[in-house]
Amino acid sequence: MTVLEQGQITIHTENIFPIIKKSLYSDHEIFLRELVSNAVDAIEKLKMVSYAGEFSGDTSNPEITIAIDAEKNTLSISDTGIGMTADEVKQYINQVAFSSAEEFITKYQSASDRQIIGHFGLGFYSAFMVAKTVEIDTLSYKEGAQAVHWSCDGSPSFTLEESSRTTHGTTITLTLQDEEKEYAEASRIKQLVKTYCDFMPVPIKMDGEQVNRQKALWRESPSSLTDEDYLDFYRYLYPFQEEPLLWVHLNTDYPFLVKGILYFPKLRPDVDVTKGQIKLFCNQVFVSDHCEEIIPKFLLPMRGVLDSPDIPLNVSRSALQMDRTVRKIADFIAKKVADRLKEQYNNNRQEYIRSWQDIGTFVKFGCLNDDKFKKQLEDIIIYRTTADLKPAESDQPAVEVQAEEGDAWKQVSSDSKTEGPSYTTLDEYLERNKARHENQAFYCTDSVAQATYVQLHKSQGLEVLFMDSFIDPHFISFLEREHTEVKFSRVDAEIDDKLIEQDKASEIVDPSTNKTRSEQIKEIFEQALNQPKLTIRTEALKSEDPQGTPPAMVLLPEFLRRLRDM
Ligand code: ADP
Ligand code: MG
Repeated sequence: MTVLEQGQITIHTENIFPIIKKSLYSDHEIFLRELVSNAVDAIEKLKMVSYAGEFSGDTSNPEITIAIDAEKNTLSISDTGIGMTADEVKQYINQVAFSSAEEFITKYQSASDRQIIGHFGLGFYSAFMVAKTVEIDTLSYKEGAQAVHWSCDGSPSFTLEESSRTTHGTTITLTLQDEEKEYAEASRIKQLVKTYCDFMPVPIKMDGEQVNRQKALWRESPSSLTDEDYLDFYRYLYPFQEEPLLWVHLNTDYPFLVKGILYFPKLRPDVDVTKGQIKLFCNQVFVSDHCEEIIPKFLLPMRGVLDSPDIPLNVSRSALQMDRTVRKIADFIAKKVADRLKEQYNNNRQEYIRSWQDIGTFVKFGCLNDDKFKKQLEDIIIYRTTADLKPAESDQPAVEVQAEEGDAWKQVSSDSKTEGPSYTTLDEYLERNKARHENQAFYCTDSVAQATYVQLHKSQGLEVLFMDSFIDPHFISFLEREHTEVKFSRVDAEIDDKLIEQDKASEIVDPSTNKTRSEQIKEIFEQALNQPKLTIRTEALKSEDPQGTPPAMVLLPEFLRRLRDM
């Protein structure tokens, strides 16, 4: 084919400028995040230059100041950073999409401890989403630099003149558009600083007061932090909420950079587990809430912060889900959570059982969906059981489980004499019961509707596992696939004659009926199969009734209970 022409695509600023101004970001308010990020970068850069011995001035008290003049309708952001020379303004400001970040990092910093937020060279222009005029007043740290004043009214033309500024750093002043006057209100700006800049590493001051918290706990080394530090941070992020069940501190820089602290909350009706709750940051700058694409679906209730410059920010949510790094980060989170659960299982079984009440369903969901997660946790999936297992069985000192008012734990345990229901793994169950029924497990899927059958099994000395959460129907099929050697029998399926005959105690003949206990129970059971709501006149049990009330009708489960206790 003949080449007709090769050349450069040209852009006319008059056309592209309005697009950048109006459509670069969907949310106008993020202009503040962009300008404060630039100020943080400028301060960080000055520090780096100073480390490199190229600046001898004081960098120990960096500061960003936000000032509002409601009368003039202006908002200004000042920093004590590196400043810009006239040439730098021409290069980095007058050229849209020209960032100094890469050049700077290559010169002064290794990529792994990258602290500079800027990247694309577009953030500054977000100021025009809310401002009719933007001014820059700046003085470079460089010796002999001339302070300059740049001004632009939103058309592609600007003016650059000398300024009388005497301190290094930059002040950006916005004269707000009439319809954006809300940004001349101190309360609105404070709220935005809280949202986007709370953890930025430089104090941000308004009217002399510091507005941001500054300390980003997730950037500290896990070994320097106490449980109380993590809990305090959780309370700060989610005030008036119950303490979390567990947390993981992520801190890795290979093969991707991610730091963060994720908590598994105590589940309450007001905790929405269908929406992501994690706050996403990029180098301590808040990016968004509800970033459900980044964590595995089965860990959706998790809360906390994730900070990663490797998560692409400017792509659609569906593209995010497909992103390879994002998928790897999700796997990494799943692995960390699994590690943490294993640690809890091995070191504190009682605490693990407590967490399980809330987290168990999600672990099962995870095992169904993620093979690696399954491999990590399949051996420590536990089930509530009818067996009365003393804590000693798990080689644990008998820890008193603290039950709080309204605690799900307490609700389950209130009908039990011990500290709570017992839990077991499938392996433990099979091992404990192998003399009676090798490779067979009895389970109940509805503790109310199948109460009779559970009682029947119990009275026969057969241990029953509860698999009655909404995910369990799927989970049982999964177990059947995973453990083909085990027969899983639902308590109300068929009655196993052999097992009942084996029970010696049930061979005692009841003189009043001339039938053995097992025959009696079997008879009742078979009737019950036909009439699950069967009631029985309790004449036979009359003498038991403390109030001596006349014979009454009782429901079958109650009858069976009394029969067992006879
Ligand atoms: P980015 O931050 O992605 O580099 P911006 O459009 O936000 O892009 O900024 C463009 C460039 O302008 C920056 O790379 C930096 O060189 C310069 N700049 C912006 N704000 C400041 C500031 N407050 N102090 C010093 N330089 C600044
Ligand atoms: Mg920027």
